[in-house]
Amino acid sequence: MDIVHLLPESVANQIAAGEVVQRPASVVKELIENSVDAGATKISVILKDGGRSVIQVIDNGKGMSPKDCEMAFMRHATSKISQATDLFSIATFGFRGEALASIASVAQVELRSRREESELGTKYTIAASEPQGCEPVTMAVGTNIRVRDLFYNIPARRKFLKADSTELRNIIQEFIRVALAHPDIEFRLSNNEKELYNLPAAILRKRIVSIFGKNIESKLMPIKCETGLLSINGYICIPSHSKRSHGEQFFFTNGRYMRHPAFHKAVTEAYGGLLPGDALPSYFLYFTVNPETIDVNIHPTKTEIKFQHESDCFVLIQTSIKEVLGKYNITASLDFDREGDVGYIEPSPEKAGNYAPGIRVNSSYNPFSKYGGGGRSTNSAITPAFNDFYDSHRKESVEGWEQLFEGLKDSANEAREQQLEIEPIAENNEQTILWAKNHDRYIIASMKQGVAIIDKRAAHIRVLYDKYRMALDSRLVGKQSVMFPETIELNIEEALILTELLPQLANMGFNCTQLSDTTFQIESVPADFSEKSAIPIIMQLIETFNTGEKIAERNKERIALAMAQSTAIKASDPLSDIESESLIYDLLNCDQSHLTPDGKRIITILNNSELQNLL
Ligand code: ADP
Ligand code: MG
Repeated sequence: MDIVHLLPESVANQIAAGEVVQRPASVVKELIENSVDAGATKISVILKDGGRSVIQVIDNGKGMSPKDCEMAFMRHATSKISQATDLFSIATFGFRGEALASIASVAQVELRSRREESELGTKYTIAASEPQGCEPVTMAVGTNIRVRDLFYNIPARRKFLKADSTELRNIIQEFIRVALAHPDIEFRLSNNEKELYNLPAAILRKRIVSIFGKNIESKLMPIKCETGLLSINGYICIPSHSKRSHGEQFFFTNGRYMRHPAFHKAVTEAYGGLLPGDALPSYFLYFTVNPETIDVNIHPTKTEIKFQHESDCFVLIQTSIKEVLGKYNITASLDFDREGDVGYIEPSPEKAGNYAPGIRVNSSYNPFSKYGGGGRSTNSAITPAFNDFYDSHRKESVEGWEQLFEGLKDSANEAREQQLEIEPIAENNEQTILWAKNHDRYIIASMKQGVAIIDKRAAHIRVLYDKYRMALDSRLVGKQSVMFPETIELNIEEALILTELLPQLANMGFNCTQLSDTTFQIESVPADFSEKSAIPIIMQLIETFNTGEKIAERNKERIALAMAQSTAIKASDPLSDIESESLIYDLLNCDQSHLTPDGKRIITILNNSELQNLL
């Protein structure tokens, strides 16, 4: 007796279905993608019971001939690959001709399709891989496919479907991904006769707004970066729009949605301390790469992609996001009056070329000198691709700082028009602010187009934070031994936290020795440390981390913030003119000079017409 025999086609299809069709959402995804591939400009998804009873997708694409309808359900039937050289596109676009065959092996399917050149369409029915019939029908050009009772012939899998609402949420997630990938296509979605989405064809910005609501519109910042290695397009949201949950993070590669944890990290790191707490930035990033440099087949559902030049891409993504965040930095528009009381800040060409904050090195840098110490060095480019990108900006800056500065002003003005960061100052403190002197809370700087009002403590927190944050990476901080070391007594919990923080504190110049389980001695402090005691700062750090959670990856940001908050000048501390000037200088040298790391506003600009309205 033969023991090797071929599996019946229907069984092979069911096995394939296990990979392709995991739940109603996978069916929706495959069907919509087919409609997109067929060149449809309108796609409707109609569901019953979260897709469990019915999933119907109607498109106005190019349709199929009667023969095509039959062929479409055969495994490895695809119109998209015809010769061996096309096999490459299997790898790049995932055309495997498996979806319809798999779906038809685990459900009852009715397909209607008509091509432009035919008077009539074809109705083709198939259930559990068994063709049920084929007949001509009258219909509009396009395809209408209805999938009923998913997994009806595999009770074990049907049982594992989640609540309708959960399946519906999964479907919506897939739907949104395709809808964002193709804003030029009209999409609709309804469940149990209730319309959930009606998305007219639109530009990307409008598409994002019609999916996520009006609220997001003013939060979107466009991003664009073209290099030979990778092009990036799309939008990122201003930091204050960040959310605590996943949901508004989207990557697309060559027109398809992709998940990419490493690139997600690149984005969140680029926002750095701008994000409050554990919040996640919202982003819609569209990558274009040479398909030969990516591999889409590492994941069965094809949402993960392996990039051949992953680390170069990582840097590019991070750099372009930092650039956008920096451009929207309102202080870029500060066009200080040369004759004004507060010194004119000479825009240095170097600043224009400074696009890779993550890899700055400056050996003469002393993060603890209060003012003026924070010079910025140029970038050290690390890869050829990065070099290209960097050079193009660098050239721009050499050819004309003026031009770039104008550009920055424009984007700031654009931001102003969209009311991104600037609002008129609050009514009740008009007087105080306008008449404030330097020893009050604000520094007033006069500019050509009006006045800038700068919260000096907030500004100092930003300046110090950037210095401490860099110190935590660079270990370039000088330290001084203390003549009479202080000791700190802690409780067990606090002591555990401090033990975890010791290496980072040492990076910043604080060397502590543990004397007992709960006693520590402070042996050294940062070179320019001028406070009488280091204990309050260290206690505040412990407090910051005393939230019961494990000290996380972002602890450098938190340490730097806590340090900055406890060492920054108080709102009431007097500043001389020179000190104010150098504080502003340092502030303008920060990548993010309009917000403190925890998102508080540092600066407000009143333009001349606003001033006239006030006075
Ligand atoms: P693949 O998309 O990988 O080619 P599928 O099983 O999803 O495989 O589809 C098989 C074939 O059926 C496609 O190659 C296409 O020719 C045809 N087809 C499927 N859906 C549609 C549609 N909505 N409009 C026109 N043709 C379609
Ligand atoms: Mg397909």
